[in-house]
Amino acid sequence: MTGDRHTQVVIVGGGQSGLAAGYHLRRLGLDFVILDAQSDPGGAWRHTWDSLRLFSPAAFSSLPGRLMPPQRGEEYPDAPHVAAYLRDYEKRYELPVERPVRVLGVHRDGGLLRVETDSGTWHTRVVISATGTWWRPFLPAVRGRADFGGRQLHTVEYRRPQDFAGRRVIVVGGGNSGAQIAADLAYDSELTWVTQRPPRFLADDIDGRALFDAATARRRALDEGRTDTGGVASLGDIVAVPPVREARDRGLLKASPMFSRLTRDGVEWADGTRAEADAIIWSTGFRPALSHLAPLQLRGRRGHIAVEGTRVVNEPRLYLLGYGDWTGPASATLIGVGRPARDTARQVAESLS
Ligand code: FAD
Repeated sequence: MTGDRHTQVVIVGGGQSGLAAGYHLRRLGLDFVILDAQSDPGGAWRHTWDSLRLFSPAAFSSLPGRLMPPQRGEEYPDAPHVAAYLRDYEKRYELPVERPVRVLGVHRDGGLLRVETDSGTWHTRVVISATGTWWRPFLPAVRGRADFGGRQLHTVEYRRPQDFAGRRVIVVGGGNSGAQIAADLAYDSELTWVTQRPPRFLADDIDGRALFDAATARRRALDEGRTDTGGVASLGDIVAVPPVREARDRGLLKASPMFSRLTRDGVEWADGTRAEADAIIWSTGFRPALSHLAPLQLRGRRGHIAVEGTRVVNEPRLYLLGYGDWTGPASATLIGVGRPARDTARQVAESLS
């Protein structure tokens, strides 16, 4: 345990969002620290499944200031490549990351914010929260979940198809994670892929770049009072990265509609049809990891925290970065977090001057 420390800005989280904010704070000459719960650089990219590939080429997956180098032999880089890029990024820009340090709570303390961690206390004028979503997997409420006798896991626990070879596996979820994991399992497992609505693949010749453009165009249209362009959702849900495309083209990615309950041996649809399963993988998304902000009591009636840009309306010394379109268009992507990080840093500098 160290004694209390002071700095102008505390960034909570040292994944891509925290690093992008740090890059801009450094350029503006501010005094700050990045507190990260991981023992090594890379944020969530250190924990994904083995076959995961980015949905954009390296050059279109870059943080401010430094292009991600291409990965030899791969158009779409894998997660270790991203983690290595983040390690290099924080070293290159000498970002002051302290790890492993877990922030337990952010508190109001007179004119300052007090950041309690598992290795001491920081006093600061501004907090930028950049903790991502990976740490808060979401599971939908489905009848009978406790009855199922097999294994249930979320995307965050899935690693490789060999762990399920020869098994009957149900993958639930029609987004990129669900499609990629289903494609992984389509060859050596007895796969049932379940999606809430028929899967919507993006056209084969477009990738994550188009998602970024669509999110940006939508934000611009809304800001200028024009008609909603529909954003990312208007294009589709699933980027047809090569393994997904291949499994789909072989006819291995046929989706069934959502079942209505779990049974002891598997699942049952509303019409009484049943499927037996050894395992169910829930690729059903994430929620923002914001428990460290609970002491500030920011949630409104519907459980949302109101923001203007990235600044929290009810606590203007706090900024939320990288959690999704609600904290900046495409801000939960490598290329998309750059702009909100820059705007946040500028706003922070203004507020401190
Ligand atoms: P994270 O990477 O989660 O980093 C947050 C950091 O904060 C972590 O190190 C965590 O340990 C730390 N932390 C959390 N809580 C605390 C605390 N209380 N105290 C201290 N530290 C804390 N984006 C793309 O651009 N291209 C893609 O192809 C792509 N594919 C994706 C595939 C999947 C399956 C998922 C889930 C996301 C994908 N994304 C992709 C989206 C996005 O880029 C990642 O989710 C990214 O990890 C978000 O970065 P982040 O820095 O906001 O959060």
